[in-house]
Amino acid sequence: MTLQIGVIGVGMIGQDHIRRLTTVLAGASVVAVSDVEATQAQEVAARIDAKTYLTGEEVISASDVEAVIVTSWGPTHARYVLAAIAAGKPVFCEKPLAETVEDCEAVLNAETKRGKRLVQLGFMRRFDAQYRAMKETILSGAIGAPLIFQSGHRNPSVPGYYTANNALTDTAVHDIDIARFLLDDEPIAISVMAPRKNSRGNGLADPLLTLIEMRAGALVAIETSVNIAYAYDIRGEVIGETGVVTLAERNDVVVKANGMFSGRVPADWRERFVDAFDAEFRAWIAAAKAGGAAGPSAWDGYVATITSGIGAKAIASGDRETITLRHRPPVYSAN
Ligand code: NAP
Repeated sequence: MTLQIGVIGVGMIGQDHIRRLTTVLAGASVVAVSDVEATQAQEVAARIDAKTYLTGEEVISASDVEAVIVTSWGPTHARYVLAAIAAGKPVFCEKPLAETVEDCEAVLNAETKRGKRLVQLGFMRRFDAQYRAMKETILSGAIGAPLIFQSGHRNPSVPGYYTANNALTDTAVHDIDIARFLLDDEPIAISVMAPRKNSRGNGLADPLLTLIEMRAGALVAIETSVNIAYAYDIRGEVIGETGVVTLAERNDVVVKANGMFSGRVPADWRERFVDAFDAEFRAWIAAAKAGGAAGPSAWDGYVATITSGIGAKAIASGDRETITLRHRPPVYSAN
């Protein structure tokens, strides 16, 4: 059986996901697309022989669309996710789930009312082989109880629409989520330090050093740099009571020449996480065919939004801000 998918928002990542669904992975076909840029939607649809719709809502209600992908601009995500849940259709949503805590809560309430998960969130790091090996190492007890997770997220540049706190609310959300995944814990407080701004950043709060306190006492330290020019570089190390586990450089080869050794640093997130995105969609296709979702959930999206939002408050106040999560609904307990 082939899963028939409708895609809302066919910009950079929407087109990359369509490429993987139509040329890399088996078991799915994209039958419908929409984008506020109608011409862009028509061009993409023509390439894959899909139908074009004027609105995301029309994609969701199309009778041949069995599952939905939301890859439009962040502020529009919640409304499409809610419409997909109302239609009873599985939905994959790129981060963020929503820009406000209220909208995230509306999604949690809608799924809870349905009594099952329909939403999978695009935190693809959870499908990355290196992060999974890191988590297995922690679970094996090889480094003892985790005390500190240090995460580095370095982007060469970011889109022009980035505003003051987006380094935290749009970029560091990945680090916040993977910290929760690795430590199997929730945040209780956040502090953010901003050094002198990178002069390449058009006034953005960049770089940032974020410190998150987790419920069981471990600390998460996140360095976010979104205009660091040299490449896309993802760093990670968990320090335990008896050892450390570190993300390795992931080059296939190391070149030694002229008295130097060197390897490639990925150009962007597409290159660094290509296998993770493929794995994420393999899992989603299988789960959506069964009428559900796999991996990162709306709960994970809620925690990322509330944590980064309070982090933005901490940038402004310069204080340590506490994070209070609502009760976790049982529908997310196996997550
Ligand atoms: P993008 O290139 O700007 O693409 C978004 C597309 O959606 C644009 O064509 C945009 O049109 C369109 N759009 C905006 N509002 C819409 C609406 N109401 N209905 C339908 N289409 C609409 O952005 P992107 O880089 O692909 O990012 C899309 C989402 O993916 C963002 O939420 C981003 O945070 C997320 N993302 C995740 C990762 C990851 O690592 N998982 C990486 C990149 C992006 P206009 O250009 O006219 O606004």
